Amino acid sequence: MSNVEQRLEKILDHVKRHNQGEHEFHQAVKEVIETLGPVLRKHPEYAEQKIIERICEPERQIIFRVPWMDDNGEVQINRGFRVGFNSALGPYKGGLRFHPSVYLGIIKFLGFEQTFKNALSGMPIGGAKGGADFDPKGKSDSEVMRFCQSYMTELYRHIGEMTDVPAGDIGVGAREIGYLFGQYKRITNRYESGVLTGKSPQWGGALVRREATGYGAIFFAQEMLRVRGESLEGKTCIVSGSGNVAIYAIEKLQQLGARVVACSDSGGVIYDKRGLDLDSIKRIKEVERKRISEYHQIHPEAEYYAEGVIWNIPCDFAFPCATQNEISEASARKLLENGCIGVSEGANMPVTPKGVKLFLDAGIAYGPGKAANAGGVATSALEMQQNASRDTWSFEYTEDRLQKIMANIHANCFETAAEYDSPGNYVVGANIVGFKRVAEAMLAFGLI
Ligand code: NDP
Repeated sequence: MSNVEQRLEKILDHVKRHNQGEHEFHQAVKEVIETLGPVLRKHPEYAEQKIIERICEPERQIIFRVPWMDDNGEVQINRGFRVGFNSALGPYKGGLRFHPSVYLGIIKFLGFEQTFKNALSGMPIGGAKGGADFDPKGKSDSEVMRFCQSYMTELYRHIGEMTDVPAGDIGVGAREIGYLFGQYKRITNRYESGVLTGKSPQWGGALVRREATGYGAIFFAQEMLRVRGESLEGKTCIVSGSGNVAIYAIEKLQQLGARVVACSDSGGVIYDKRGLDLDSIKRIKEVERKRISEYHQIHPEAEYYAEGVIWNIPCDFAFPCATQNEISEASARKLLENGCIGVSEGANMPVTPKGVKLFLDAGIAYGPGKAANAGGVATSALEMQQNASRDTWSFEYTEDRLQKIMANIHANCFETAAEYDSPGNYVVGANIVGFKRVAEAMLAFGLI
C-alpha cells in the first residue's frame, strides 16, 4: 500500500473511532475517500494542510429538544438537529429531514454529501443538513404546524440568509417550509425571504424548485445516455418512492417519451405495465397524503405488492428516489440481470457500496446522487438569487437554467473522470470535482 493509501486509511479509521455508531456517515466518507488517492498525489499541499481531515469534521453541530403538544393535549418530545458541515464556498445550505429514523449519523452523512454536491453545482453555497426524528405521517396539519413552530423556535438563532439556509428533504415539503418560515418571520421581525428555500411561489419561492430534483435526475440521465448515443425516449423506467423527487422524475420521464411502469412508498410497490397515471399519484400523495396502495383502488388492473421490492421489476433505466441504501447488492444484481442499462440517483446514497461496485464493474451509466440530484439545491441557489434581487423568473427560464446546470455538472464529472484515468466513472468525477473546489477555497482561507 502506498503512503497516500495508508494516509487515507488512517483518516477513515479516525472518522470511525471519533463518530462511533454513525454507519451512514462512515459509508459516505469511505465512498469519497476511496477516490481521492490520485488527487493527493497530484496535490501534496492538500495532505500537508490536512484538508481531508478538516473536511470530515463538521464546522458545527447543533442538537436540541423540540417539545410540542399533540391533538389530544399530550406533550411530545422530539430531537432536532442542524449540522453546518462546511462553509468554504458560501452560507451553509441543505435540507431538513423529518423522519423517525433520523439521528446524528444520518444528518452527518447527508451534510457531508451535500458539501461536495453543492460545490459540484457551481453555486456559491456551503454544505449542511438538519432535521428531526419526528414522523409527519398520520399527523394532523395542526400537529405538523405546532411541531414546525417549536423546531424553528430553537433553529432561528442559528440560521440566516448569509449564514445558513435550510430547505426541504424527506418529510419536509411546501407545507412544512410554510410553517417554518411563518415562525421565523414572527420571531425575528424580518421578512427575510432568503432564509429558507423551497417556499411556495406565492410568497418568495422559485418556480421549478418543486420539480428541480426530479427533473434534474432525468436531465443527468439524458446526458449520460447522450454521450453513449442513446436517449430516454421509449425506455421502460422504474422510479422508487412517490414523494417530491419521485413524482417530478416521473413527470419529466413521461414528457421525454419514456414509459414509467412502477413507483412505491414504504408500504409497497405499484406496477402498472401500461405506464403510471401520474395525475392519480399526485392526487393520492400531494393532496390526500395517502398510501400508494390507493392507486390500486383507482386502477385495479395495476399490480400492488405490499412490502415488495421495486428493483425486481424489469426496466431499462432505474431511478432510486426514496431513501439511503434502498438498492442492496442483490437488487443491483437483479437490475443488471434484467438488462438495466442505467441508474440515476434522485435519492442520496440509495445504493449500497457492493451495489455501486456491481454497477461500475458492469459499465452501465451510473449517476451518483452527488451529481444526479444536485438540481434541487442548484435551483434553491437560484431561489436565493431571486430573493436577493427581489425578482421572479419564469418557469421556462428557470427550467432552462436547471437543464444547463445539469449538463454542466455532467460535463465536469465526465471530463474529470477521464483526466483521472477512470473514463465513464461518475463517482470518481463527482467526488474529485466537488472535493477540489472545497479544498482550494479552504487553502485560500488559511487554517480554518
Ligand atoms: P419525500 O418525503 O417527499 O418522499 C420520500 C418518498 O420515499 C416517499 O414515497 C416515502 O414513502 C419513501 N421513503 C422514505 N423513506 C423510506 C424508507 N425507509 N423505505 C421506503 N420508502 C421510503 O422526500 P423527497 O422526495 O424530498 O426525498 C427523497 C430522496 O431524495 C431522499 O433521499 C432525499 O434526501 C433526496 N433528495 C431530495 C431533495 C429534494 O429537493 N427534496 C434534493 C436532493 C435529494 P413513505 O411516505 O411511505 O415514507
